[in-house]
Amino acid sequence: MIGAVDIGGTKIAVGMIDDAGHVRSRLQCPTYPERGYPDALNRITAMIEEAAAKAECRITGIGIGSTGPVYPLTGKIGNVNFFPHWEGENPVHDLESRFHLPVAMENDADAAALGEAGWGAGRNKSRLIYVTVGTGIGGGVILDGQLYRGVKDSHPEFGHHLIDPSGPACLCGFRGCWESLAAGPAMVSWLKSAAPPDYPNISDLSAKSICELACQGDSLAHRTVERETYYLGLGLANLVTMFVPDAIVLGGSVMKSASLFLEGIRKLIRESCKLVPWQQTELTLASLGDDANLIGAARVWHYRFGQHGGNSVH
Ligand SMILES: [Zn+2]
Repeated sequence: MIGAVDIGGTKIAVGMIDDAGHVRSRLQCPTYPERGYPDALNRITAMIEEAAAKAECRITGIGIGSTGPVYPLTGKIGNVNFFPHWEGENPVHDLESRFHLPVAMENDADAAALGEAGWGAGRNKSRLIYVTVGTGIGGGVILDGQLYRGVKDSHPEFGHHLIDPSGPACLCGFRGCWESLAAGPAMVSWLKSAAPPDYPNISDLSAKSICELACQGDSLAHRTVERETYYLGLGLANLVTMFVPDAIVLGGSVMKSASLFLEGIRKLIRESCKLVPWQQTELTLASLGDDANLIGAARVWHYRFGQHGGNSVH
């Protein structure tokens, strides 16, 4: 049984995950970054102990997935937007010394990619790209069973590949990144910018509510979904052209409405990826559900320390 820790910008989830990738117990709390790292570490420690007691199990190890940037091989937290004062802290060393167990950490999108590759929709795919679309766009790449890392163990940032240089400003400082055009908040901001003054559904908009409105026949919401399909499709077509993977696995909150987008995305890939065998790339939905990041965090441990001596997704 692996103790899994998913550190996000707004919440920290902890769970006990068995060797088949099933969640046996689960707890969560707000991240409270302003309370400082030692406070978060104490809460994580207490939640691991409580989750293990609830599942009535002994823990073999601890896996962490964290919003990034993080340094997986040293265990250090980088300069993370959501908790800038935690930079340089090392939850891997700290949890190792508290629990006397091996601990491994990855960026949360890489953790989810490992989870889908080991226990989810990406099983038995040797070239796999995982893409998560929610408040941002992120992802992870697995090539021939290995998690792809950039130089100095860096994590590639799909969400910030350029789609339209004249597009909206992005939090990274550039314009027209995939994330700025196709993450959930982009749907909301575009609909608001296009809405007439008497548009009735303007309050409490979210990607989810826009998709619901589109299904109910709201024409502006329908146009927003069409635009989302186009920009999602462009980014995915770029990934198909550049990598021609066996599969692209789609996760994240916006993908809960995937049935609205998939046909259009497939059409765009068909039309724009003609120089590569695009038919060979399976476009599929993530299968680990709302706990994909937590389950992925456990898979991080298996990837690092598992039965094949580590660094194997299977
Ligand atoms: Zn960007």
